[in-house]
Amino acid sequence: MIPLCDPERCATAGCDPVICTGAGVPSNDEMFERSARAIPGGVNSSIRAFKSVGGRPYVVARAEGAHLWDVEGNRYVDLVQSYGAVILGHAHPVITAAVSAAATGGTSYGAPTPREMKLAEAIRDRVASCERVRFMNSGTEATSTSVRLARGYTGRDRVVIFHGNFHGATDALLAAGGSGVATLGIPGTAGVPAGAVAETMVVPYNVVPTLDETVAAVIVEPIAANMGVVAPVPGFLEGLRAECDRVGAVLIFDEVISGFRVGTGGAQAAYGVTPDLTTFGKVIGGGLPIGAVGGRREVMETLTPLGSVFHAGTLAGNPIATAAGLAALNELDGDVYELLAHRARRLAGLLGDACAAAGFVAQFPVVGTLVGMYCHGGDLPVDFAGAKLTDEQAYARFFHAMLREGVAMAPGAYEAIFVGLAHTDDVLDEIATAAHRAAAVAVANAD
Ligand SMILES: *Cc1c(COP(=O)(O)O)cnc(C)c1O
Repeated sequence: MIPLCDPERCATAGCDPVICTGAGVPSNDEMFERSARAIPGGVNSSIRAFKSVGGRPYVVARAEGAHLWDVEGNRYVDLVQSYGAVILGHAHPVITAAVSAAATGGTSYGAPTPREMKLAEAIRDRVASCERVRFMNSGTEATSTSVRLARGYTGRDRVVIFHGNFHGATDALLAAGGSGVATLGIPGTAGVPAGAVAETMVVPYNVVPTLDETVAAVIVEPIAANMGVVAPVPGFLEGLRAECDRVGAVLIFDEVISGFRVGTGGAQAAYGVTPDLTTFGKVIGGGLPIGAVGGRREVMETLTPLGSVFHAGTLAGNPIATAAGLAALNELDGDVYELLAHRARRLAGLLGDACAAAGFVAQFPVVGTLVGMYCHGGDLPVDFAGAKLTDEQAYARFFHAMLREGVAMAPGAYEAIFVGLAHTDDVLDEIATAAHRAAAVAVANAD
């Protein structure tokens, strides 16, 4: 038996059959505990379990615009926005219309389609370095494909990554490193064999490493947005470009977050540095599962069927995800990013004012349209060692106080704060009111 609600027999009048278990509407805790009996830890992406902030997650019933509702009917202003995948706001009418229209024509075929062509063209037309684009189903698949491609193209094995950057759950990129020095080949999690990271070098962010001719690729978040938000220092991205050129390595920008989030041309346009390959995800799927690798034609055509580097995906170029992605990109032009940058600055300002008024130590750096948070009073970080100075306990207190005031931030001290087109001035006012109370509570709870 599937123990979900049967509306014909349910005792709860007008219940939502998606949420209802047939015995009325469950609490977040009941729902989460039941999930944990079917799904390890009750989540499908580890951060959602609230482990680093403590407590239990809210279980989302639905969302619209800047808001989401949990199964108990509590409403939150959502600053997670699917970790940046949603930029127009939840359930935006152009996305839901595109998704429904696409679904009525079939959900996957295993053959070429017009929509994947149009989305590839849309990316190619907006991001100059992307002469060709290949789709897959997640950012993780995009980064793993980009690394395989770079290795196949160069005939070399070594990959350089930066401490505190995140490239998804790909074995070769899940390497741990010491915070200061360059290190080689330490698995970042159980289950990654030493061999999978033996050719992965981890170096500090914002310092240009000296490469040699064993290096296939340097992969970097051109704006680091998984250790709070850290901008590239002047000369860093240019230096990587020059160093890759010097030794013939492939420069990969991981723009899974920054792509179509900070501007039409991504971080590469904002900083004027051209990578060989770019990975995308999040925004380009309009909130549906997607990933993409784009880049120089010569490198991209090393992928099968033209070249020797294998890539495949049953659902890759999916008609619904590409429809949603196209609809999203069509809404995102230059003016939109001006507005988002303005809102990002306003959000950072009001959060900073609220914390200052309560004596809660926190800083909110803004890079383009991205906002970070550090519970630390010193210099803003330029690398992971600096980011780690944030007071994770203080973040957890602020996070829970905000949640009680009806504002959902990410349940982790190193995530970005995502402001989108649905975060209007009214919503920002709502956040300001909540933040003033929450900062005071977070200070009171510190003792
Ligand atoms: C989210 C993210 C990924 C992984 O994307 P998924 O779709 O979660 O697999 C890769 N790189 C960066 C920079 C990301 O932020």
